[in-house]
Amino acid sequence: MTNRTALVTGASRGIGLECAKALAQAGAKVVLAARDTARLEAASREIPGSVWVELDLANPESIQAAFSRAGKIDVLVNNAAITKDNLALRMKKQDWDAVIATNLTGAFLAIQQVLPAMLKQRWGRIVNISSLVAESGNPGQANYVASKAGLIGLTKSLAQEIGSRNITVNAITPGFIDTDMTASLSEERKSAMLAQIPLRRFGKTQDVAAAVRFLASDEASYITGHVLAVNGGMYM
Ligand code: NAP
Repeated sequence: MTNRTALVTGASRGIGLECAKALAQAGAKVVLAARDTARLEAASREIPGSVWVELDLANPESIQAAFSRAGKIDVLVNNAAITKDNLALRMKKQDWDAVIATNLTGAFLAIQQVLPAMLKQRWGRIVNISSLVAESGNPGQANYVASKAGLIGLTKSLAQEIGSRNITVNAITPGFIDTDMTASLSEERKSAMLAQIPLRRFGKTQDVAAAVRFLASDEASYITGHVLAVNGGMYM
């Protein structure tokens, strides 16, 4: 991936940070993007050749500013996301809006920022981090699941729209991965989930990062519009 620049959203921690490390190891120049600048700075110090930009995906102006600071991007990993869980009946519109704005609209606006240069150079890789629940559904997460299912629709439409320009667009649907996002689940819930995973372990951030690195590589040049499950067999 030498001579490629990869921007990873939500690279301040968790899966995004691991993706940034994996892409840097593969030779890319990496741009780490998220809201927490202290964490970004610390993360960037550990990743040789990387830089960071402040990015709030809920804010279109912040997206524009971040990408103009980042410069030309060859590989975009739309990884950042939030959850604001509640039963649908009790879900506040502001919690619906916040999750759709960050997870889906933010990803779309980020794609719009990188497309002109990718189209011009006739090479690009876009990897959208969706979720297992986009396909299975999940009670209590209507907003999050809708945003993640939306990302799959976006992936497939865009793959058809820009395939002729040698730009691939793929999605990854992680299952249960050990990160801050899943840390708050009760032990009871975790052991119930573990029982449903054929590989009998939770995923590691490295499991997802390896899939991202592959889809971003030249070796994956004939794969587009694909939804790659990284879930230990939890949903087939
Ligand atoms: P995480 O530990 O909660 O990290 C989320 C990342 O997103 C952080 O770096 C956060 O950085 C960033 N972020 C949140 N809101 C943002 C905003 N408005 N603008 C910019 N960045 C923002 O989550 P994770 O578990 O690593 O998840 C990464 C991706 O995998 C997400 O898309 C998630 O939905 C998906 N996923 C995770 C699992 C799992 O089991 N963990 C399963 C399926 C899918 P700042 O707070 O610094 O902004």
